[in-house]
Amino acid sequence: MKKTDFEQWSQEATSWSTNYLNTIDQYPVRAQTQPGDIAAQIPVSPPEDPESMEEIMADFKNIIPPGMTHWQHPRFFAYFPSNAAPAAMIAEQLATSMAAQCMLWQTSPSATELEQRMVQWLRDSVGLPDSFDGVLQDTASTATLCAILTMRERTLNWQGNQQGLSGFPRLRVYASSRTHSSIDKAMWIAGLGQDNLVKIPTDDEFALDEKQLRQAIEADLAAGHKPAGIVICVGGTSMGATDRVRQVCEIAQEFQLFTHVDAAWAGSAMICPEYRTLWEGIELADSVVLNPHKWLGASMECSAHFVKDPASLVRTMAIQPEYLKTYGQDGIVNFSEWSVQLGRRFRALKVWFLLRAYGLNGLRTMIRNHVDWSEQLAVQLAGESDFSITTQPILSLFTFRYTPSQVSNADELDELNRQLVTAINDDGRIYLTQSLHDGLVVIRFMCGQFDMQASDIDIAFEVITEIARKL
Ligand SMILES: *Cc1c(COP(=O)(O)O)cnc(C)c1O
Repeated sequence: MKKTDFEQWSQEATSWSTNYLNTIDQYPVRAQTQPGDIAAQIPVSPPEDPESMEEIMADFKNIIPPGMTHWQHPRFFAYFPSNAAPAAMIAEQLATSMAAQCMLWQTSPSATELEQRMVQWLRDSVGLPDSFDGVLQDTASTATLCAILTMRERTLNWQGNQQGLSGFPRLRVYASSRTHSSIDKAMWIAGLGQDNLVKIPTDDEFALDEKQLRQAIEADLAAGHKPAGIVICVGGTSMGATDRVRQVCEIAQEFQLFTHVDAAWAGSAMICPEYRTLWEGIELADSVVLNPHKWLGASMECSAHFVKDPASLVRTMAIQPEYLKTYGQDGIVNFSEWSVQLGRRFRALKVWFLLRAYGLNGLRTMIRNHVDWSEQLAVQLAGESDFSITTQPILSLFTFRYTPSQVSNADELDELNRQLVTAINDDGRIYLTQSLHDGLVVIRFMCGQFDMQASDIDIAFEVITEIARKL
């Protein structure tokens, strides 16, 4: 392809995308392909000679969409959303054509300065005080890893990166038993080890039990271990488990522990002041992550990582070989020093387009609708004698079980609910996933897709009840 053909093919791609987005609700939500179906259509070796864009685009159209799960489908009720608002898509297109590497201020001053401003916009939008600064990471997993590395270095008096961990006592990190697997993985990668992530049981509100947290910290101190920090969960993935941020932060302060709040999904909802009770006390935390690429529509990858003391993060993550030094530019920010990766994309552009094109009020309306609609469906299902709600809605997430009176054995009910999820997803009109809640197979219902309407909830109710009763 020649550069002179760029406009033609770019327009072709735009037309295809427009048509795709306009007709997306005609696709089954979850891909209906079997493993290997797509690979079988792709040659095992690359071509030696160039192929035409006509052929490449034709293959794209034929092969790729049928093998996709459609995350922008209005009846995507699985996992958490991964919304891409059209305004964010346009910004991505522009960022892709500049294709800048935004590691240092001087490699892309606009990207760095817009990122600083967008972090402020997001911080203020969710009601965090201006004592927080921040950075746009790729994912919440990375933000959490950076937070755990900061806990580690701070506790080791900044010697861990240099000396390695073998000469030090065991560092301990605490989290509720309902936190996300990215916390476990961060412990692995930070070299602290799974066994040093102390999982604290939760109470009947699914929140970490502070009394047991305190006992665990005291026991570790008595054993000569070094408590390093606490990861606090706000809106867990399985059913929305949420810790009491204030109480946990107060214990952390007492023992001088670093706190990181994982609000990857629920954090976006904090643009609506009425939901902020869910993270009451957040101003006490040291580090907070939320994903605008989930509910807000910023498109993968865009994770807002707020920190109260950027110097600790930079002291943990910055490395400056000669070729990365930027002399004579004191006071500037080089965002590669705030993260794992050196090279980074221009992520702030899509946040800027997004927040301006919808306004906070536009985004608030969307989130409030999702919460209301999810509550409506929970009430509707609770009214059916053969369904039970296992956990009530937390924001727009609840879990339920199909519990027809003919089946009373718990294992059989588990199996029935697994079959129901598979049957629903094979049907294709909606997409749901299952989870394990206190040992029971439950079905998660989460609504959060950018374009969904109230009528999609009616369809969800119909599909769930119809398919269950045919099993
Ligand atoms: C989605 C999610 C994560 C992981 O987010 P990534 O950005 O995919 O790494 C972590 N914690 C919670 C609570 C989540 O919902």
